[in-house]
Amino acid sequence: FHRSQTSLPDLRERTLIAVKPDGVQRRLVGQIIQRFEQRGFKLVGLKMLQVSEDLLSQHYCELRTKPFYPSLLHYMTSGPVVVMVWEGHNVVQTSRTMVGHTNPAQAQAGTVRGDFSFHVSRNVVHASDSLEGAQREIQLWFQGKDLLNWDCCDQTCTSEA
Ligand code: UDP
Repeated sequence: FHRSQTSLPDLRERTLIAVKPDGVQRRLVGQIIQRFEQRGFKLVGLKMLQVSEDLLSQHYCELRTKPFYPSLLHYMTSGPVVVMVWEGHNVVQTSRTMVGHTNPAQAQAGTVRGDFSFHVSRNVVHASDSLEGAQREIQLWFQGKDLLNWDCCDQTCTSEA
């Protein structure tokens, strides 16, 4: 990269990714994590939990009036979820591409939803849809102390050897 350019990559951009209950139950957690690792993103937070309706109603506050909202709550509380924060250049937008269309019938093969699901009510994974949304969701799901900064051994091994 030319340091003089104004559009330096923001390597600290973060997004929230969640493996929904159907993804956990179908043992897809490892494959979903693998996709984000191999793309080059950095895992900075991870936990498994049974979500409360209170947390979900805040997470999906924009969908409260939708007809599918009650079934969405039922789905999302039907078992534990694995929620993660991933970091890297353009991670919000790239994650949305990796996850695929909300409706798996329209999701491209090669995306998580396009490869692992066939119905919008069981679409395996969540990804924040904007920078603002990501910030809001990360604050909702994680405490600051549970997000970790770490350096890759590529950069540190020679200095500590
Ligand atoms: N959803 C659903 N029926 C619909 C639309 C959405 O059950 O007709 C669920 C689905 O699980 C989706 C979630 O509600 O992932 C949130 O919807 P949104 O439009 O925010 O899509 P996303 O950002 O997850 O792609």
